[in-house]
Amino acid sequence: MSDYDSGNVFAKMLRGEITPDIIYQDEYVFAFHDAYPKAKVHVLIIPKGAYKNITQFGERASDAELIAMLRAVPKVAEMVGIKEGGYRTLINCDKDGGQEVPHLHLHLLGGEFVKLDLG
Ligand code: AMP
Repeated sequence: MSDYDSGNVFAKMLRGEITPDIIYQDEYVFAFHDAYPKAKVHVLIIPKGAYKNITQFGERASDAELIAMLRAVPKVAEMVGIKEGGYRTLINCDKDGGQEVPHLHLHLLGGEFVKLDLG
């Protein structure tokens, strides 16, 4: 995709140039521990496709890719032990949304009460 920066760190993971702490993957998504956790449990779920943000993903992804992202949430939550206690999900988008890595990622935060810091 022309407006996708393939030099971003998550693209490097998907190409196998960086090895993340992988929790789960299937045909469409990939989940790993955040390197700088903001809660006791902090996991990122990303699509394997080249989508820079939720806008591109919502507009361009196939139904199968869209479904896989949401289906992965409870699976991964269970795998990291936070399904029972609950969790927050967060997707930042672009500059005003505070997105730092330009490959769509869904934050899954839990393992304790997760304060919402919108700063
Ligand atoms: P965002 O601000 O929504 O773009 O979030 C980017 C997230 O990626 C942050 O929570 C970072 O801690 C995380 N992150 C950055 N580099 C890595 C990496 N190499 N492995 C795992 N997580 C990372």
